[in-house]
Amino acid sequence: MPVLVMKFGGTSVANLDRIRRAAKRVGVEVAKGYDVIVIVSAMSGKTNELVGWVNETSPLYDAREYDAVVSSGENVTAGLMALTLQEMDIPARSWQGWQVPVQTTSAHASARIQDIPPANIEAKFAEGMRVAVVAGFQGVSPEGRITTLGRGGSDTTAVAFAAAFGAERCDIYTDVDGVYTTDPRISSKARKLDKIAFEEMLELASLGAKVLQTRSVELAMRYKVKLRVLSSFEEQSDAAGTLVCDEEEVMENRPVSGIAYSRDEAKMTLLSVADRPGIAAAIFGPLSEAGINVDMIIQNIAEDGRTDMTFSCPVEQVKRAEQAMQEAKDKGDINYHNLVADTDVAKVSAVGIGMRSQSGVAATMFKTLSDEGINIKVIATSEIKISVLIDRKYMELAVQALHDAFELEKPA
Ligand code: ASP
Ligand code: MG
Repeated sequence: MPVLVMKFGGTSVANLDRIRRAAKRVGVEVAKGYDVIVIVSAMSGKTNELVGWVNETSPLYDAREYDAVVSSGENVTAGLMALTLQEMDIPARSWQGWQVPVQTTSAHASARIQDIPPANIEAKFAEGMRVAVVAGFQGVSPEGRITTLGRGGSDTTAVAFAAAFGAERCDIYTDVDGVYTTDPRISSKARKLDKIAFEEMLELASLGAKVLQTRSVELAMRYKVKLRVLSSFEEQSDAAGTLVCDEEEVMENRPVSGIAYSRDEAKMTLLSVADRPGIAAAIFGPLSEAGINVDMIIQNIAEDGRTDMTFSCPVEQVKRAEQAMQEAKDKGDINYHNLVADTDVAKVSAVGIGMRSQSGVAATMFKTLSDEGINIKVIATSEIKISVLIDRKYMELAVQALHDAFELEKPA
């Protein structure tokens, strides 16, 4: 029988009533003839509570015990979902990660899935079981310890199962009804997309559109898993939600598909560093060792052998970045006059695979911001993305203006 993966996020299993609603949806797919693998998150708020308990008990906790505690939320939902399905006379059972087994690396709290041997679950399907309910977000390390995949990790569990079982589709049920052209809370003109390409979704996911864990999109792209994001709170048809798929399948022929933003950015400038071979390595090596997520980088034109180097990073990493630079300076590895941090900036990005073949996107973007009197502080581009850093107080205005300029409210 064809296999379908259905993932239910925390709000979709927040209480027994919602679990029943989700189970009904599973029942609809079973009735269509699918063997279903259901991936569940912890009930909403549960994981935060568990993380809080760990921190309170042991601030410098043993990550293996963190995983033992934090993975437990999903176990509860998996068992309850299996019971609910049984009450509906649907043959179902629950599986914790180690029982499948979901084999992962030993990187506790951010483990990666290495393999999911399908044999155990397939044997049960062959015996007549119709639904395997699997606790998301968790696995087992080569040492036999319980691991977790990082916050939001059950999306990745779902995609990995879809790949391992050759599922026809992986449906992600959540509290929004799909992926939008921008955040509907910022622009009332935001429009739900019917389809979006993996690459675009990857940019949007890493730019802070928190619909899917970034890693899950990477996996779906690699294994060509058809991924659909849809709401568990609305009646659904087969065409509902947003399909994340190969770019050949996306019909919209426009340069920009979405406007993303990231509110809490900082712009750091090292004033007057020596313009010599190895200077970038001497700066960004220590930043990387300090775990700073450097995003945009600009090196200015040198004058008299000195230059300014600017980079952006999340605002909460500014203190750590300053410390890393001071240490490198104290060691004599770099020399600069001053390090200036601008912590009142936001990043706004236009994303679209159409940019590859259509020119003028950058010009339109810059003109639009200029018409609004918004000053651009840093620009960075990739093949399918143009990002600018601007004053944070203009972020909403910039998102709205760009959404209008690229006419994203109109279906292509
Ligand atoms: N419950 C976990 C979290 O909140 C995993 C997930 O829901 O995806 O991060
Ligand atoms: Mg999530």
